[in-house]
Amino acid sequence: MTEYAVEYRKGSKWNQNPDQLYRYMECKLCGAFELACDENTTAVTCHECVIEMCDPPEIKTKRNSGKPSGWHFMKIFVDKDGNVYFRGINQPKLKGTIPPTEIKKKKRLTKIEKQRYIQEAAVNVASLKKELKGLRWKKDKKIVEQKIKNYIKVINGKFTDSLISKLFS
Ligand SMILES: [Zn+2]
Repeated sequence: MTEYAVEYRKGSKWNQNPDQLYRYMECKLCGAFELACDENTTAVTCHECVIEMCDPPEIKTKRNSGKPSGWHFMKIFVDKDGNVYFRGINQPKLKGTIPPTEIKKKKRLTKIEKQRYIQEAAVNVASLKKELKGLRWKKDKKIVEQKIKNYIKVINGKFTDSLISKLFS
């Protein structure tokens, strides 16, 4: 038994059988439905929440070193002391020749901002649902359905940067 919502959906992905039902379960953190592998699964965390859970340690190293997460994957990164790195490898000869890389700070949403996004999302879901009724073609419906799905994620309290910029900018 599980305390989370479960839905059985027909296979729709390339690696699924369209005649078979697949068990989906609500993500315990954000409520998005995620494929649950077997009948015994009692709770799932969706892939997006897993990514978010991986964030905090990176923030910690960011504070310690003054370098943003993923700096060693960047083609060129220049720290505040002028040390130049090519994909994480220090280039001592180039020290001081390139201005330090600007580090963008991750913006945190305030409670009021979140509330505003949720309200706007709810209004948009309502009008998209109306729009959906007037659509004839599957491919048009799919686009609208995807939008609705994303707005519902916001309503359920999901505020990833990518989601917000996709829906509200
Ligand atoms: Zn989730």
